[in-house]
Amino acid sequence: MLKSSRYELRILANSSRSNTMNFDRGLWIGHEEIAAQSTLPRLPVMNPYTQEQWGSVAQADASDVDRAVLSAQQCVETAWSTTSGYQRGRLLNRLADLLDAQAERFAELETRNNGKLYKETLTQMRFAARSYRYYAGYADKIHGEYLPLDNPRIVDFTVYRPFGVVALITPWNSPMAILSNKLAPALAAGNCAVVKPSEFAPVTTLEFAQLFKEAGFPAGVVNVVTGAGDTGAALVNHPKVRKISFTGGNAGGRKVMEQAAQRQVPVTLELGGKSPNIVFADADLSRAVNGAIAGIFAAGGQTCIAGSRLLVQRPVYEQIVDELGRRARLIRQGDPMQPDTQMGPVANAPQHARILGLIEQARGGGARMVAGPGIEGQTVPGRGLFVPATVFADVRNDMDIARHEVFGPVLAVLPFEDEDEAIRIANDSEFGLAGGIWTRDIARGHRVAGRLECGNVWINTYRVGAVQAPFGGRKASGFGRERGSEGLRAYLTVQNVMVDTAETDDDPFSIRT
Ligand code: NDP
Repeated sequence: MLKSSRYELRILANSSRSNTMNFDRGLWIGHEEIAAQSTLPRLPVMNPYTQEQWGSVAQADASDVDRAVLSAQQCVETAWSTTSGYQRGRLLNRLADLLDAQAERFAELETRNNGKLYKETLTQMRFAARSYRYYAGYADKIHGEYLPLDNPRIVDFTVYRPFGVVALITPWNSPMAILSNKLAPALAAGNCAVVKPSEFAPVTTLEFAQLFKEAGFPAGVVNVVTGAGDTGAALVNHPKVRKISFTGGNAGGRKVMEQAAQRQVPVTLELGGKSPNIVFADADLSRAVNGAIAGIFAAGGQTCIAGSRLLVQRPVYEQIVDELGRRARLIRQGDPMQPDTQMGPVANAPQHARILGLIEQARGGGARMVAGPGIEGQTVPGRGLFVPATVFADVRNDMDIARHEVFGPVLAVLPFEDEDEAIRIANDSEFGLAGGIWTRDIARGHRVAGRLECGNVWINTYRVGAVQAPFGGRKASGFGRERGSEGLRAYLTVQNVMVDTAETDDDPFSIRT
């Protein structure tokens, strides 16, 4: 029997430091919390800082996924498709108000679930609310165009239609922010959704789904199925799912694409990165070092846009390496809820083990560690899934540490001689998500940006995100864009309509143009 979620959350809000809080949840289908039919074992909800379990979620199987998809399908057919764009926008604005009003509570829940700093999760809740508002503004401005044809008898126009049921699959690092990139435009466009959050961070998504009921959306507009990869696969394979958006790792992305190919369903993929952050010798070096630190150590490097390859021009290479090592060794790690903590734990035990393994490998592979595990004077808290901020110097681009995504606080610093070499190294990667350029020469900034094979470029800054600016990757970092007008397009399909205005009929065998 499921306990009352509202009761549990009241406990949570009133005793934020309590270890006895409990988050045991079912699935969220048709505006109700529902026990899973699946007999698969429940998944633990963990706190990566205390390493304590504070709840569990159901592991949905194909029959549960079917219920969720049918709920979304019914909502598309009976309610959401007849809701005007104006009304969709009003509901999305109301949702944003509810989220904003409870941003602190959601931020705390997310921090407890994935270890990200509270100050960052709070910013992400505000970002998510902003995203629902941004797409609320689009909801009643989705229109096609009238197209004058050669044949004046025919009236031709285009209409942007929603796909129907969309499957939204999210990872553990930023569940609410990444979900808002997908769900806000999907709903504004008139789709209904089934969301599959990560097994490691499902809490805020389950909690957030309740706000749709409170805001007055029709039942079934958003449904949440929890579980691991197989749950996601069942969703991707469901015949009523008409569009898939996936954010996650490359292995998962490849599988989703293969499965979607079997049914020829359109997919948006936001995958990993090994992003080059390029420092030219003429840069403002103090800003560049800050940008490098923000690029890799913010969120403990658990971000797809992490500037994990720092390319530094030779004349300033040693100076930058020394400064980075010094600053990394001083990073304060600890309770992610505390405002003076600079880096929290990593999000889950498998990821923790994986990062430490990759650091050991890099050490054995010839890179010079100037900050990281075992470096004198650098410590991490005694408990919690912590990884020390790690900097490797003298990295070559063919080393594993320069090629594989770590998804943790590990920076590889590579030297280069000139602009051409910087671009060659930067583009010599299977990934193409983001890139940074630090220079005082604005012409060089533009020139280099134009030659980088990546979806997002920052010049003299790093990791700035905005709801208006399209975001996404090239090469193995994925395809399709989220945010901005491009993000809305991803959830619309164009229908062309022709109307014959003639009063008499044609010979059926005439050539019709
Ligand atoms: P995963 O790819 O492991 O998982 C992402 C989501 O997909 C999870 O909900 C996961 O379920 C689910 N999933 C796994 N296998 C399948 C499958 N075969 N079919 C359908 N769904 C599946 O990524 P992580 O959660 O480990 O997240 C970290 C990765 O995400 C990093 O590699 C990072 O680069 C990438 N990422 C990319 C971003 C971008 O915008 N480009 C942003 C953030 C992260 P479960 O986890 O429960 O098994």
